[in-house]
Amino acid sequence: MEIIVARNSGFCYGVKRALRLALKTGKHSGGRVFSWGEIIHNPEVIADLKNKGIEVANSLRQLRPGDTVIIRSHGVSPAVLKSLKAKKVKIVDATCPIVKNIQKTVERLSRQRQEIVIVGNRNHPEIQGLLGYSRGKAVVVENEEQALALPFRKKRAVLAQSTQDEQLFGQVVGILAGKTEELLVYNTICQSTRVRQKATAELAGQVQALLIIGGRNSSNTSKLYQISRRLLPRTYLIERPEEITLEMLQGVNKIGISGGASTPPEVIQKTVLAIRNSFKQN
Ligand code: SF4
Repeated sequence: MEIIVARNSGFCYGVKRALRLALKTGKHSGGRVFSWGEIIHNPEVIADLKNKGIEVANSLRQLRPGDTVIIRSHGVSPAVLKSLKAKKVKIVDATCPIVKNIQKTVERLSRQRQEIVIVGNRNHPEIQGLLGYSRGKAVVVENEEQALALPFRKKRAVLAQSTQDEQLFGQVVGILAGKTEELLVYNTICQSTRVRQKATAELAGQVQALLIIGGRNSSNTSKLYQISRRLLPRTYLIERPEEITLEMLQGVNKIGISGGASTPPEVIQKTVLAIRNSFKQN
């Protein structure tokens, strides 16, 4: 069995940076430390951070003045930032600089007289943050159907969640071009996402089955799954190596592995080992 791991699998720049900042904060802060929501969608990493004194806060009620709160790579809206400041907590901003730039673009566009279309997942924290910068001028489009339902406008700007599928973004831009007199396009899909998606698509063309490893609630992991699935029906989304079944490996001589932006490198290594071991046993 040949096992190929996709280039650029695992933690992206923004996630690595946020984790580094969280660990540094946990080590040096004397008081209670929280991340505002889970830093990454991985239970093992969250448990490890908890052991190091970094808890997850999902509500302002959990916080007390003097606590330290780490803002994760997805960023937050100005309203959330304001309420954290009002709570008198120390803020460590680990928003990915690329997401910060998208926030600034949305803020700048919101000062102009035009509708902003964001192609992304409505409930994703990055999109929730971006909506907060739009002064109510942004609409979120999750698929082609929603883009087709939008009315004609004289002027519009369109941009994407940093982890958006490039093909979907292109399709939505195509639809909006037919519904807008003057369309400004900002391709805000980050380079790390593009490279990862491209490497996964290439790998899907070379193997008989492909395992995408990452959290089922991770947006970029599910994008990778969709991209690979379009090209290779035997694409499987797993969160940990224990989920590998014999059916996934049956008749496969060459298997691919790709990991989302929040998949720790150890989980990818363990998956490679699990496949090797399962072949030794059968
Ligand atoms: S996917 Fe890109 S924009 Fe998002 S956190 Fe990672 S590097 Fe930053």
